[in-house]
Amino acid sequence: MKKHFLFTPGPTPIPPEALLSMASPIDYHRSAEAVKLIKDVLEKLKAVFQTQNDVMLLTSSGTGAMEGAVTNLLSRNDRVIVIRSGKFGERWGELCTAYGVEFDAIDVEWGNSVDPQMVAERLGKRPETKAVLSTLCETSTGALHDIESLAQITKERPTLLVVDAVSALCADDLQMDNWGVDVVVSCSQKGLMTPPGLGFATLNDRAWEATKSADLPRYYFDLRKARESGLEGSVPYTPAITFIVALQYALNLICSEGVRNVIARHARLAEATRSAVKALGLNLFASNPANTLTSIRLPEAVDGKAFVKMMREKHGVTYAGGQSGLSGKIIRIAHLGWMGEYDVIVAISALERGLAEIGYDVPIGAGVTAAQEVFHRQSTNEA
Ligand code: PMP
Repeated sequence: MKKHFLFTPGPTPIPPEALLSMASPIDYHRSAEAVKLIKDVLEKLKAVFQTQNDVMLLTSSGTGAMEGAVTNLLSRNDRVIVIRSGKFGERWGELCTAYGVEFDAIDVEWGNSVDPQMVAERLGKRPETKAVLSTLCETSTGALHDIESLAQITKERPTLLVVDAVSALCADDLQMDNWGVDVVVSCSQKGLMTPPGLGFATLNDRAWEATKSADLPRYYFDLRKARESGLEGSVPYTPAITFIVALQYALNLICSEGVRNVIARHARLAEATRSAVKALGLNLFASNPANTLTSIRLPEAVDGKAFVKMMREKHGVTYAGGQSGLSGKIIRIAHLGWMGEYDVIVAISALERGLAEIGYDVPIGAGVTAAQEVFHRQSTNEA
């Protein structure tokens, strides 16, 4: 028997209630029940995005929602700033290039977070910049960007702040309305504990205004149509209704725990994971690590690709490896979505055993002890 444990930053494990709900008979997506379902889901998503703005439901992965943001907000002659500190920041740039929009890149060394001052300086030189495109958590490195500070800079200017919260929604704080973020995009298979297949976008009034003059081609991801339909409890085209059913279960769990508590839980899991990593004598990769996942810089002697493969095949434990230039050099452990303290204990104890097994000198048990101590301290502080 081999039990499987999934610690990737998407897809993430799905709660049993949500899994079971997908086995119920499929329904017509324009039925009264579906309208009620979609309205309920859209309302609960507002709580998750910490906004009063409408949330648009798309049938796509996260990249579709990113593409929707680009095509609905921008015109061919616009200039934007793209913060590139990893694979997903790069994706914003690739999307702009695909649609012929020129961008200024702010390149940040992978593992680091952008210095908001650099963005302010760049905007000072180019005040006509239409938008700043950033990630919240750069999943390829585990680094968190300071979106609150970026929003302080953009909200005083005509520049929109567009945030990819694909991985970090529910795990790292993002107060769209309070901070003044203009656009947020995300998707189903990460903090929202639902299978891949649903994308989300939400825009504030400034961003909706921009959609009026945007001239890039758009059809499937026309957010105006998605918004209009959403107000009626519908979507413009046949939606992935099965996943919407599952999403409702997941959202019910999130809303009954409370969005702020969900984020606090992720903060606790991340703190314990980081503490464990250090206790094992390993280094964190990100300078300002997110709550979403922990990236670990592997010692030179460890072949990261072979390690990830061995852990999955032999131990049934799936971590994510490094991407692009980080391939083989880091591993990424997500503590995202349907995760609690004992999931972290499993992830860390497997890491210790796996490293020991490949001959790396690791103090077995030290990581688990460190994580347990963090959890114990946290629970006694709460009591
Ligand atoms: N942005 C970020 C920050 C991500 O983590 C991911 C997926 N790992 C994406 C974008 C792309 O999302 P998808 O694969 O769902 O299209």
